[in-house]
Amino acid sequence: MKKDLLTIHDLLLERSGPQHWWPAETPFEVVVGAILTQSTSWKNVEKALSDLKKEGLLNPKTLHEIDVNILAAKIKPAGYYNAKARKLKEYMNHLYANYAGDLDDMFKSDGRRLRDELLSIWGIGPETADSIVLYAAEKPEFVVDAYTKRIFSRLGYVDESVSYEGLKEFSEQNLPRNVKIYNEFHALLVLLGKEHCRKTKPVCDGCPLEKRCLKKNIKKKKPG
Ligand code: SF4
Repeated sequence: MKKDLLTIHDLLLERSGPQHWWPAETPFEVVVGAILTQSTSWKNVEKALSDLKKEGLLNPKTLHEIDVNILAAKIKPAGYYNAKARKLKEYMNHLYANYAGDLDDMFKSDGRRLRDELLSIWGIGPETADSIVLYAAEKPEFVVDAYTKRIFSRLGYVDESVSYEGLKEFSEQNLPRNVKIYNEFHALLVLLGKEHCRKTKPVCDGCPLEKRCLKKNIKKKKPG
């Protein structure tokens, strides 16, 4: 199986090339983007990040000091802006209370401890925590999501009802613990999920995994 998962990674990489994730200029921007992208498209997050940048707000000191209601208004394009403003403030409060606002200091602990610490902050769930650990702190914690679940279940590796932690554990047990591979593989799976392995009508023709897939050419059943 170890070989299988790595082969999937290699096939996707061969087809699409490196994805250069995460699209951000700094690790701090990755953190903010990872919180803002919960339940919304990246396009909306980009707009919110760009607005924050234009106004000179995208730095730890300013986001720590800014009033939560003003912040909510600034991140409106990302959706769920009141909740997300509070989540950002909770993260900033933690960063300042424990590390005097120094992100590098926070990222000194090993990946698993950092993940647990992030999960202890209100508003940070497993996918957000793993995204921060992998793409901002550059430590090997694999990120899984709905695309990973869909693709791995169609390939026959996991059950569709697998939990986040179960899917993450399966992936990590079957891949070398390597930041570069984790970084690229997650990005490539997202791309495949968008271009080919779509939820209702997968485009199996031309999918680089077609020969290995149990569910190739599945179509959504017509009603009646
Ligand atoms: S062959 Fe079809 S169902 Fe299988 S991974 Fe590719 S797009 Fe998804």
